Amino acid sequence: MAVPRNRLSNARKNSKRAHHAKQPKQLAVCANCGKPHRPHFACQACGVYGRG
Ligand SMILES: [Zn+2]
Repeated sequence: MAVPRNRLSNARKNSKRAHHAKQPKQLAVCANCGKPHRPHFACQACGVYGRG
């Protein structure tokens, strides 16, 4: 197992973790009913896959 050679300062640790925030989920708009749905998934409202 890798062992760190040097102590990571709080500033370096925190700046590294500045990129760890959770991003909001990407949503596509259904071409059939206009409701947001997950891309590459069938629409939860109308069940249509594709066409947007
Ligand atoms: Zn839909």
